[in-house]
Amino acid sequence: MVTPATDNFTNHPLLHTAFSWENERKNLNGLPDGHGLNIAYEAVDRHANGALGHHVALQWIRKDYSVVEFTYLDLKHLSSKFANALTALGISKGDIVCTLLGRIPELYTVALGALKKTAVYCPLFSVFGPEPVVQRLIRGKAKIVVTTLGQYEAKIKPSLGRLPDLRHVLIIDTPENIDDQILSYPQLMQKMSIAFTIPPTSPDDAALLHFTSGTTGMPKGAIHVHGAVLMHYVTGKYVLDFQPTDVFWCTADPGWVTGTSYGLIAPLVSGITNVVDEDEFDALRWYRILEQQKVSVWYTSPTAIRRLMRMAIKPTEQYHLRSLKLIASVGEPLHAEAVQWGQKTFGVPVLDNWWQTETGGIMIANSVSMEVKPGSMGKPLPGIDVAIADVSENDFQLTTQPGVSGNLVIRKGWPSMFRAYLHDEARYKKCFRGDWYITGDLCKRDADGYFWFVGRADDIIKTSGHMVGPFEVESALMHHSCVAEAAVIGKPDPLIGEIVKAFVVLKPGIAASEQVRLDIVAHARKKLGPAVAPKEISFVDSLPKTKSGKILRRLLKARELGLPEGDLSTLEK
Ligand code: ATP
Ligand code: MG
Repeated sequence: MVTPATDNFTNHPLLHTAFSWENERKNLNGLPDGHGLNIAYEAVDRHANGALGHHVALQWIRKDYSVVEFTYLDLKHLSSKFANALTALGISKGDIVCTLLGRIPELYTVALGALKKTAVYCPLFSVFGPEPVVQRLIRGKAKIVVTTLGQYEAKIKPSLGRLPDLRHVLIIDTPENIDDQILSYPQLMQKMSIAFTIPPTSPDDAALLHFTSGTTGMPKGAIHVHGAVLMHYVTGKYVLDFQPTDVFWCTADPGWVTGTSYGLIAPLVSGITNVVDEDEFDALRWYRILEQQKVSVWYTSPTAIRRLMRMAIKPTEQYHLRSLKLIASVGEPLHAEAVQWGQKTFGVPVLDNWWQTETGGIMIANSVSMEVKPGSMGKPLPGIDVAIADVSENDFQLTTQPGVSGNLVIRKGWPSMFRAYLHDEARYKKCFRGDWYITGDLCKRDADGYFWFVGRADDIIKTSGHMVGPFEVESALMHHSCVAEAAVIGKPDPLIGEIVKAFVVLKPGIAASEQVRLDIVAHARKKLGPAVAPKEISFVDSLPKTKSGKILRRLLKARELGLPEGDLSTLEK
């Protein structure tokens, strides 16, 4: 167990008994005159109208490292202007407004403005190719998309004929309107007032449309509501331990749910400073940002951590990182080595937490107030009822025994629960059994109440009568000194059902050889036993991943078996 270096919030077990959603709701304001709950009001206007008007809300770092600061008042005015622009364009409650932008200030203005207008904001990841962009615009029946001229010409213009619902494209880098449909964003914004009254908003009104990462198949469109802001607030407080002077950096792109829930909403709802970097991953750049911006809370992903771990840099010797008090990670299993690397390198463990697009916010987490068991996802948040269940077509049984793996299920009703899959009610219904939402991930709970990830239900390998979770095997492989990354699939076998096959990326400087292969197999057999250890190992230069950094095991499997590759819209090229 790793004991966290800090202990600056309430004791975790106590919190569980004292916690209530009603009490936490009192920390939000609600719209004036009891007109409901609106994410943008909680995130921006209430702070702008109060003591935090001149506090830095967004600290935007350009590619050349220059910094532009936006206060809460700036964000209030900009987002109100955009909400007025939407009114001028005839946009109504529930209409879908998209961005196809990198991490630049206009994205945050548009997101908050759309939320104020009670339109539904849908971020599209700027590095999607033309077809994934157009498909998502069609599926969402998007009315507005805000983008750059280059993106528009390359990805949208050729398909305008397929987008009958699209009323306007707003171009941020063109000073004049192109025609009646393709408008200049600066020209439009210039004419708008900074005064906007947010209309009454119910906590159940749709606010966000997020497409999932497409790790297991065609990305699904998950619809979230304004009431989700309570979850963002609570998790910012109890998982990320936000304090008023914190500088927070979430490295995820807002094209994915993490980049919106935590790269935008959670820090602003808590009234702290949110760092946004325009540029892509680069280890030295990231360390420089952590130092220069004096980041105190850093939320990132296992892929990024693995990339940093591979570098021969001792960050604390080369950079002043004394402000850093908390590191958290989400998106994929975080191997024990990575947790310990955080402790050794920065003096704080990397705190793994679990959630998914559908949950809208963090559900299970390691937090600074508890002992961290490296390799575990941690414990459920207060107010979140999580269980392990045996789920089949006709049966649903909760498992109370510790150590038994089964489907991770969450009791309905948490504030950020998704309310629909876009145009797919049948699929939505299928995710629920009575009061329980079935996540599709297999996990175990230990006797101390910690949850351990086993694998996605779709990735489980059935070999010689055993159910093998890829995470267990990959973790054992990662433990070998030559292995940088590993992914494991089940390969059909007439005798034993499936054999465990591993794809391994070796650390820099290690050459693939029969000797290394045998050594890794021997290591895996010793750790896992012969039934579970991989029978086949292929060395590869890299693993196929989604653009959000998740290993695409289904693609490794399809390629191995010569099957169709399926939807590749989110594949990182
Ligand atoms: P799709 O649903 O389209 O296949 P996806 O599930 O990868 O894609 P997301 O909602 O972005 O899309 O990812 C959530 C999933 O990521 C979780 O269901 C889980 O499988 C995985 N995940 C997230 N955090 C963790 C974690 N801490 N440990 C293990 N797995 C995690
Ligand atoms: Mg999923």
